[in-house]
Amino acid sequence: MPLTDIQDRIAKACAEAERDISEVQLIAVSKVQPLERVEQVLEQGHRLFGENRVQEAASKWPDFKTRYPDASVHLIGPLQSNKARHAMELCDAIHSVDRPKLATTLARLAQEIGNCPDLFIQVNTGEEPQKAGVLPAEADQFIADARALDLPIKGLMCIPPVEETPSLHFSLLRKIAERNGLAGLSMGMSADFEQAIAFGATHIRVGSAIFGDRVKPAE
Ligand SMILES: *Cc1c(COP(=O)(O)O)cnc(C)c1O
Repeated sequence: MPLTDIQDRIAKACAEAERDISEVQLIAVSKVQPLERVEQVLEQGHRLFGENRVQEAASKWPDFKTRYPDASVHLIGPLQSNKARHAMELCDAIHSVDRPKLATTLARLAQEIGNCPDLFIQVNTGEEPQKAGVLPAEADQFIADARALDLPIKGLMCIPPVEETPSLHFSLLRKIAERNGLAGLSMGMSADFEQAIAFGATHIRVGSAIFGDRVKPAE
């Protein structure tokens, strides 16, 4: 689907939710997409992209950024502590802060580097054992601890279970964000970004609807 169609759908969803379109950022998820397709989207003027692996982000974005200096990349996939420094150098935001060890590592590196990307805490709203993220019941404490480390926590992120109604998860995430005074909500993907916008998403992460099906399976 062309980028302009997605932008139209975002505009319509914002109008229906009586939200200003400037409140919703479209993250074009370019993981495992051929470089030509990513370049096409850059050529259309889009500048915000999402990657789920540090290695993969490192293999394409430094190059793209020399040609499109205002491009920005958000890490949306799991981050190992030993890749945190690299992620902080490459990315303008990390959406997958999901455990105390990663939070302390990011805090130490932020001190060292003197800078830190915007951070989102991933909440495992579906309490799925195989999925990353802090449990909803532990979220308030985790957010408080991350703030105590001086980390720039901007919001929360979730990936709803595939077989469940996403809106229940979107509303739960929003509730946790609201009671913690967090403005950012990273939620909504190709299949459900309009619903996410209705529930207050500030960052939607859309891959296949923009780029077409991923050529290789994503993790
Ligand atoms: C791949 C991915 C997306 C995009 O998924 P689509 O269904 O292709 O839009 C969004 N968020 C995360 C965390 C992802 O890994």
